[in-house]
Amino acid sequence: MSQEVENIQPSYPLFRNDEYKENLSTKREAYEERHPQDKIDETFQWTTTEEYKELNFNREALTVNPAKACQPLGAVLCSLGFEKTMPYVHGSQGCVAYFRTYFNRHFKEPIACVSDSMTEDAAVFGGQKNMYAGLENAKALYKPEMIAVSTTCMAEVIGDDLNAFINNSKKEGYIEQDFPTPYAHTPSFVGSHTTGWDNMFEGIARYFTLNYMEDKEVGSNGKINFVPGFETYLGNYRVIHRMMKEMGVDYSLLSDPTEVLDTPADGEFRLYAGGTTMDEVKDAPNAINTIMMQPWQSVKSTKFVKNTWKHDVPKLNIPMGLQWTDELLMKVSELSGKPIPESLEKERGRLVDMMTDSHAWLHGKKFALYGDADYCMGMTKFLLELGAEPTDVLCNHANKRWKKAMEKMISESPYGANTTVHISKDLWHFRSLVFTNKPDFMIGNSYGKFIQRDTLYKGEEFEVPLIRIGFPIFDRHHLHRMTTLGYEGAIYMLTTLVNAVLEQLDKETRGMGTTDYNYDLVR
Ligand code: SF4
Repeated sequence: MSQEVENIQPSYPLFRNDEYKENLSTKREAYEERHPQDKIDETFQWTTTEEYKELNFNREALTVNPAKACQPLGAVLCSLGFEKTMPYVHGSQGCVAYFRTYFNRHFKEPIACVSDSMTEDAAVFGGQKNMYAGLENAKALYKPEMIAVSTTCMAEVIGDDLNAFINNSKKEGYIEQDFPTPYAHTPSFVGSHTTGWDNMFEGIARYFTLNYMEDKEVGSNGKINFVPGFETYLGNYRVIHRMMKEMGVDYSLLSDPTEVLDTPADGEFRLYAGGTTMDEVKDAPNAINTIMMQPWQSVKSTKFVKNTWKHDVPKLNIPMGLQWTDELLMKVSELSGKPIPESLEKERGRLVDMMTDSHAWLHGKKFALYGDADYCMGMTKFLLELGAEPTDVLCNHANKRWKKAMEKMISESPYGANTTVHISKDLWHFRSLVFTNKPDFMIGNSYGKFIQRDTLYKGEEFEVPLIRIGFPIFDRHHLHRMTTLGYEGAIYMLTTLVNAVLEQLDKETRGMGTTDYNYDLVR
């Protein structure tokens, strides 16, 4: 039972060999104390029923497979979007290992982020000493021009005060007084990765502008600010750049990690690459206005921008799909005085053409989806524009106001007649919904894969395929480079959705002489 040097195999297909099969079955019988297969199957079937769903939805004290990540993970992504910035997490090392591997598996890139490795003594006496050494070492070793500090649960539970610790580090000479160290408290027992992004952005905006507002004047730099929120589709940053360039609009994208998360393999390792400059952040209050690309998750940042920068922050939705992209571009045109160029009008026309071409295949198709608040809202809106029917939309970390806004939007479309919106629910709830409400497809991140497997286990006719749009996507490559915003994003999503429908149709009609009714090559 050993590998051959000339033919090293991964677990699959290696475990298909007879000796491994035997070994696995012996292990199961001798050590696993497994229930009999018929009992397992009986219980499995029960978990797919309405009765079980009801019990599942009455569950209170347990979360199973949460459809969210934790606050500092979002803070790290936000920090990575600023030039020569090292994300620094005050707290446990294991948490930071998780953030780095999470992003690493999604973006297939090394992720720079340090922790000050608090252990038992720091948990009792506070982590100030860790911060002294951590800031000094991070600066000396990695030579950043800014260190953006967030916290893990441990630091928050004992109540470490970042402002005091950072100031003391400077007073004691561990780093220079004027070294940029914005920070945000990011307790993970409340909120999610999107809250963490929002907190960190507010922390950076606060650090560079709150006490420097005297010489600022709204509109004086002629720019429009864009705040992306927790955004993991690199194409979504790029599409903002492209659309604004085509419009000839001067703008600042406040947090842009596209370069550092997509560095070329040309022999040079880049610890830092690209990103929004500190000067852009300092100048941001001088802009005409600030647009929140994901308004439902940017609550604290919006409040700060309104109160301190005195920007009114236009009421817009995430620019997903046709109408909400139209609204974004019209608002930018109104604010900047620049017309929408022919190139974008043509792109819009192409999207409308595609929607018409694919309408027959998407009309009436049922989709269940889960993810972050703005994403879920934008995706639902686009599905309704396509004539598709969302069955269940689940966002674990959205509030009641969001649910109400969703329900209002859905009620305005005939395709939303059978849609239900769920908040504070997890993917185990979602699994129940997939079994009982039987959508044609699920849309979500990689974790939906296990729900798809379960539906297949019930029987081929029950299988609900997963369409991977969301975060994280670990089990497919390069999807994070795609675009989901703007007309370009709608084109990508429409292509993905309709081809999933056609793929499924081909699968169902490929039986030779049995289900290959139309011998269709052209759909
Ligand atoms: S939830 Fe808390 S303990 Fe867990 S990884 Fe996040 S910060 Fe660390």
